[in-house]
Order: sequence, then structure tokens, then C-alpha cells
Amino acid sequence: MPAHNDVAAFQELLRRIASGSHTVAAAGRSPRILALCGAGLSAASGLATFRGSTAALWHTHDPMELATPEAFAADPGLVWRFYAYRRHTALAVKPNAGHYALAALSRSLPTNSFLCLTQNVDGLSPRADHPPESLRTLHGSLFDLRCVGSEREGPAHCDYSVEDDFTEPLVPALATAAEGVDETASKDSDGKPPTLPHIPLEELPQCPKCKSLLRPGVVWFGEALDQEMIKGVDQWVAAGGIDLMLVIGTSAEVYPAAGYIEEARDAGAIVATINLDAESREGLRALASGDFAFGGSAADLLPVLLEPLIGKLEEPKVEA
Ligand SMILES: [Zn+2]
Repeated sequence: MPAHNDVAAFQELLRRIASGSHTVAAAGRSPRILALCGAGLSAASGLATFRGSTAALWHTHDPMELATPEAFAADPGLVWRFYAYRRHTALAVKPNAGHYALAALSRSLPTNSFLCLTQNVDGLSPRADHPPESLRTLHGSLFDLRCVGSEREGPAHCDYSVEDDFTEPLVPALATAAEGVDETASKDSDGKPPTLPHIPLEELPQCPKCKSLLRPGVVWFGEALDQEMIKGVDQWVAAGGIDLMLVIGTSAEVYPAAGYIEEARDAGAIVATINLDAESREGLRALASGDFAFGGSAADLLPVLLEPLIGKLEEPKVEA
């Protein structure tokens, strides 16, 4: 049995999966690879995690308390300001070699042979030209927008939504927030950060169809994941054996994402974990026989591990 971090053994497995000679892949069947990505994939781009220390407080607000439907209902202007800032932060960094390697993996395999589930809302995979047909953003995206009318029943229902809208600022009223101006720097005379100016409803992003408010297309605390998307993922998982499960930059503790690893294992998959702490004592304890664990940055490791299928990853062209 190869060592858990044997790059050559992993690459050999990948070649066998692609050629159909791996045991799980029945003769003549296309390979099937599932990936689950988390914040660690974007870490090399320089993006602080949502719960990370640098994002512990936004102005005087706890981000965890702003990412809720209740907060949006109470003060949509404040929540939109927070999301304008998060969009700005995500746009200020670039996709890394890990994002590009996964996009290249998708292009190297037949349609439906690869499904990439990401918990990241940062838009970096789409910006790395990851083919949309193999990408599922489980928690939505900072750059998706949808009408609040999508939550209404009856005649007031509106299904307007848009994906990957990278406009900045979205509306003039959000320009300061989008620029990331540190408004906390100027203190009031009592030394407290100033209260953020209220943004009137009519100045917030509006649905072009029904003039209701648009909201960020992310899954907030207390909200369910997109059931249509989950249904599609479940169907893909159930459609036959899975050869390989890539767990990238995530400790995969959040359900339902974490459940996919077990489902893939049940479907025959060898699990390969690529994460900074993949080779920690705890990480290694979770390994089954034949699994792989590569401790390191996804941006460094993925281009090397996937090279048998994607070739040498070219330096990505600089974004305009
Ligand atoms: Zn609408």
C-alpha cells in the first residue's frame, strides 16, 4: 500500500481512473470524480475566512449576526453595506493555481465525470473560468443576486435572479462600502466608531422586474441550502460508483457537505484530502485504507497532483 502522501501513487491512480482501468469504474464507463472545497482553497489568494480573526468585527457588528434573514429584514441597508464590503474584499484578490487546476480538471474530463462542490461564496472559481456545468456553489455566491420576492408565495412571487454579477459598486449608495473605506478610523468625540449612515430602501439594489429589493444570493444562517441544487448533487452521487473524492481546504465538519464524503466512500471512492492539516494526527486518523492525505496549500498541491490529467498548468492570464 502506498504511503498516504505518495504523489506518484496518487498520480498513477488518477491515470487509471481516467483510462477506465481503476476497479470502481466499470469497463466502458466514464470516470467519476467528486470534489468538496472549502475556505482553504481560497486561502492562498489571501482571502481571510469569514470566521477568521480579521473579520471578527465589521465596524461594531458581528458578521455572524449580519448574515441572517432577520438582520436583512431589520436593516437591509446595513446588511447590503456589509455585503458590498465582502464583495470588494473578494474582488481585490485573484483566483490561485488551485482554482485554475480544478477548472482544468473539469475541462479534461467528459461532461458529468466531475462535480465540484464548493462551500466558498467568494466567486473565485467562476473567475478562474471553472465550467459552470461542473460547479455547485453550496452556500451561494456574494456575486449572485436574487429578488426578495422569491421568498413570497402567490402573486407577489418573483423569480428574478442573476449569477456572477461582478459590478462594483452595485449601486451608487454602496460605493463607500464597496471601496472598503475604513469608516471605523474616524472616531466620534466620545471615542466610539460612528454609526453608519442609513441607506434609504430606494437606493439599494432593486429587482428590475418587480422593483422589490434584491438580496445577496448567499445562504444565511438559519436558511436551507438550495433544494434544487442539492437534489441535483444527490442524483449525481446516486448515479453510479464514484472513483475519487477530493476534499480540498475544508475540515468538512458542516453538513450536508460532510455527508458527501461518506456517501462517496460508500460508492467506492478513494478519498484524497488536500488541506494544511490533512496530515495532522487527527487528519490521519480519519483515513481509510488506500486513502490519501496531502498536508499543504491547495494552490501548491493541486497543480502537481492533477498534472497527469491537466498537464502543466500554465500561468493564468492576468485579469483585465
Ligand atoms: Zn422581483
